[in-house]
Amino acid sequence: MAEPDRATGKFVAFYELIEACRQPGCPVCRRLTEGGRRHLDAMLYEQVTDPDTRRRLRASWGFCNWHAWMLLEIPGAVSGAAIIYEDLTRVAIERIGRLRRAAPARAGWLARLRRLGRPAAWSAAARRRHGRAACPVCLQCREAEERYAAAILEFVDDRELVRAYEVSHGLCAPHLLQVLERGAPTPGLDALVGRTLAKWAALRRDLGGFVAKHEYRNRQPFTEAEAASCARAVEMLAGGRAVWGNALHGARDGGSGAPGEITAASGAA
Ligand SMILES: [Zn+2]
Ligand SMILES: [Zn+2]
Repeated sequence: MAEPDRATGKFVAFYELIEACRQPGCPVCRRLTEGGRRHLDAMLYEQVTDPDTRRRLRASWGFCNWHAWMLLEIPGAVSGAAIIYEDLTRVAIERIGRLRRAAPARAGWLARLRRLGRPAAWSAAARRRHGRAACPVCLQCREAEERYAAAILEFVDDRELVRAYEVSHGLCAPHLLQVLERGAPTPGLDALVGRTLAKWAALRRDLGGFVAKHEYRNRQPFTEAEAASCARAVEMLAGGRAVWGNALHGARDGGSGAPGEITAASGAA
């Protein structure tokens, strides 16, 4: 939780952003990725068998795609992950088995002709899973994202933040727009946009340098910034890896930024 620094009125989120500005990529995407990993870590070592944690994970059918795969990347996580997923696998077997028993094994000739029967039972089940409870780590990330947006808006003129932002790669496009959407127009916010656009212009120059030096007759070495420019541009436009969603299943910019995606509905099928 963000606790105010009594001397300056600054919040933990402010200092976390300052720290993230020293790392490559969008500072907010960096913080959300690290925060999610820390939350998973804590869950693994403290709450693997906690009844509340299990109940929440059953309601959400486990972690979301982002955090489920992140879980496997945590060193030494596999035994805790296996305990969690043994329980979730059992529940999934029960849910689908129950539906299978309720669903007709074979549709009559008329239903087959009209392609009815099976789709009704199973599509209702698919809809219920679609409306499952949110991934508990995403819920934490969502709260954190709100705090970072609020800290950026509140301290947009703060010299410490301006200095830290100067050495960062700047906000990704989706996070910049998220902040702009939340804040009233102020000269400070306009200056943030100006600083970000200057970073994007520098990134474009690095990309140009990278492309030009790729030409086979060119023997000039890439600068460090040029070598990293393509990955930086991808992050600038798409946001940090997995932080923002994809459109495969209909959600545009789903991930942590689409309020409609997350519901508190029970995941019980
Ligand atoms: Zn970002
Ligand atoms: Zn998640």
